[in-house]
Amino acid sequence: MNGTRPPEPAPLLVADGLRKTYRLPGGGRLTAADQVSFTVAAGGSVGIVGESGSGKSTVARMLAGLVRPDAGTITVDGSDRAAAARGRRSRRDRLARAREIQMVFQDPYVSLDPRLTSRQCLRTALRLHGHDAADSRIRSLLDQVGLGTREADAKPHELSGGQCQRLAIARALAVDPRILVLDEAVAALDVSIQAQILELLEEIRQGTGVALVFVSHDLAVVQHITDETVVMRHGTVVEQGPTTQVLSAPQHAYTQLLLASVPHQGWDPSAATHARARLTTASA
Ligand code: ADP
Ligand code: MG
Repeated sequence: MNGTRPPEPAPLLVADGLRKTYRLPGGGRLTAADQVSFTVAAGGSVGIVGESGSGKSTVARMLAGLVRPDAGTITVDGSDRAAAARGRRSRRDRLARAREIQMVFQDPYVSLDPRLTSRQCLRTALRLHGHDAADSRIRSLLDQVGLGTREADAKPHELSGGQCQRLAIARALAVDPRILVLDEAVAALDVSIQAQILELLEEIRQGTGVALVFVSHDLAVVQHITDETVVMRHGTVVEQGPTTQVLSAPQHAYTQLLLASVPHQGWDPSAATHARARLTTASA
């Protein structure tokens, strides 16, 4: 240490060597994730990209504590979450852990209780975690995600997909998490609504300092919202780094393929087909 540079702040979350296998019906095991390591800075934004089946959701679920890793550690602020998961834990431990990392899923109609209005949904989430569930707190949460009085008293089926996703985000924010993990959270929305939700998430990150882990098969989505990108293929990380670098000068043939597959002006679909053929040959 020569002392000329300020020390890098310790990352908020460190995922180190995560591995998860699933038993196959016919015997044997499928490796859904292996040796997955990355960090998330406090208030940072990390994208996890890759094609369907590459292991993104498995990693997201391990972060949120919904899936237990076979190996590896997840530490938040230096304390090991996976180790805690291995021991017997009380409901209080589980809730405390849920407060740190909250998850938002692709389909809000599935993740929201159809019987509850937005207001009731938020009240329930706040009470579950022993937070103040006063009307003013509920109003400010709704306001934070751009929902008004009409939406406050509506049930999910009376809201649009984008409004439901806003509510799901508000519910996640209700417990003041350090990290929001969003798994394909805008994938089911129209492109124009996607843009609004991405803008909202960026606003929330700036306003609250919550870190985002943004899981998406869509490179365009990740490009807009993340500082760092992790590229997954067949359960492993093939490339990671600053988003601008990974997406403008991808080093790995798979990242190049993902980029070549995104439709854009003057796009040549056959270039993507050729890139895939090369990659398949190279990794065979
Ligand atoms: P992604 O989110 O990138 O599409 P997933 O993490 O959902 O990928 O899946 C990775 C691999 O693990 C896939 O082959 C999938 O079929 C398998 N998988 C995921 N969840 C389970 C499960 N609960 N049981 C068995 N296999 C699973
Ligand atoms: Mg997935």
